[in-house]
Amino acid sequence: MNKVSRRVFLGASGAIGAVALAELTGVKSSFAQRGQQINLYSSRHYNTDQRLYTDFQKQTGIKVNLIEGKGDELLQRIRTEGRNSPADIFLTADVGNIWQAQQAGFFSPVNSSILNQRIPANLRDTAKNEWFGFSTRARVIMYRKGKVNPSQLSTYQDLANPKWRGKLIMRTSTNIYNQSLTAWLLGIEGPAKTESWAKGVVANFARQPQGGDRDQFEAVAAGVADLTVANTYYLAAYGDSTDPKKKEIFSKIGVFFPNQAQGQSGAFSNISGGGVLKNAPNRAGAIKFLEYLTSPAAQNYFAKGNSEYPVVQGAQLDPILKSFGSFRSSTSSLTGVGPNLANAVRILDRAGWK
Ligand code: FE
Repeated sequence: MNKVSRRVFLGASGAIGAVALAELTGVKSSFAQRGQQINLYSSRHYNTDQRLYTDFQKQTGIKVNLIEGKGDELLQRIRTEGRNSPADIFLTADVGNIWQAQQAGFFSPVNSSILNQRIPANLRDTAKNEWFGFSTRARVIMYRKGKVNPSQLSTYQDLANPKWRGKLIMRTSTNIYNQSLTAWLLGIEGPAKTESWAKGVVANFARQPQGGDRDQFEAVAAGVADLTVANTYYLAAYGDSTDPKKKEIFSKIGVFFPNQAQGQSGAFSNISGGGVLKNAPNRAGAIKFLEYLTSPAAQNYFAKGNSEYPVVQGAQLDPILKSFGSFRSSTSSLTGVGPNLANAVRILDRAGWK
C-alpha cells in the first residue's frame, strides 16, 4: 500500500469508527464534525464530571462524547476495536489499571509542556509520557476512635506489628488497591521485607479479607476490628452523606496518615488518570482536553467528583478532605508501581492474604 492510499484507508476507518460510535451513543455526527469532538472512554462515573465536558466545549468548541464503563470492559472494547477504535482518551482509577492499559500498548506518548509543568513528576509516566494523574487518592489507616489512640499508629509497615494481632482487617489481595499499595511498598522495602510485612499483616487479621473499602471501615465502626486501610474518598462520601447511618459511621472513624515522620516515605497516594490512545482519531483535541483537566477550574470539578485531592496547586480541597488534616504524600514515582505489580501479587499469595 502506498503512502497516500494508506492514509486514506486509516482516515476512512477512523471516520467509520466515529460514526458507529455516534450511532451507539445517539450523538449526531458527520465526517465534517469529526475534528470538533473527542471520544472519552472513562470508568469515572461522577455527576460533576459532566460540568467538565460542557465547560471544555464552551472554551474550545470540542464536544466530549462520554463512553462510560468499568475499566476492564473499556480496555476490552479498545482491544476489540483495534485501530478502528473511535476512542481518543482512556481515563480510569489506580495506577495499576493505567499500567495494564500501557502494557497492552494502548497509549501514545504526549509531550506537553503544560502537563509536564502542572502535574508533579511522580504522578505521571516520566518513562514514556504515556499517562498522567489528574487527581490523587490517599490510601490510609482508618481506626475506631476511642479504641485506638493515634499515638499508637505510625506506618504501613507497623501494621505487621504483633501488637495489632486480631485487631486489623483488610480487603482482599485480588483487588488492585492493595496490590498497588504492596507494589509501592516493594519499591521502598524490597522483596524480603515486603514479604515478611505481608505475613505479619495476615497474622494480625481479625477476619478473612472480604468486601470493599467501605465494608472495611463500616466493620471497624461496628467493632469487628480496631483498624483498617482504605481510600480517603470513600470515608469522605460518608461525611458528606445526609444518611444518618453513614454520618454515624463517619463519626466513629479516625483517619491516620501513615509514614509522616522525618525520613519516612509519606502516605501512599494513588491517582485517577489516563492518556491519549494510540489510534485516537482526534489526537490534538485529546491533548487539549488533558491539558484542560489541569486548569484550576477543571481540577476543582475533577477532584471533587470523587472527593479526591487535586494534583495542581491552587485548586480547592473538598471540606471533608480538609477536615482529615494536611499530610505529606510519598514523592516516589508511581511509574515504579506497575512493574512491581506481578511480584507484589505473588508476595500476597505466598503470605496467604486471601
Ligand atoms: Fe474506588
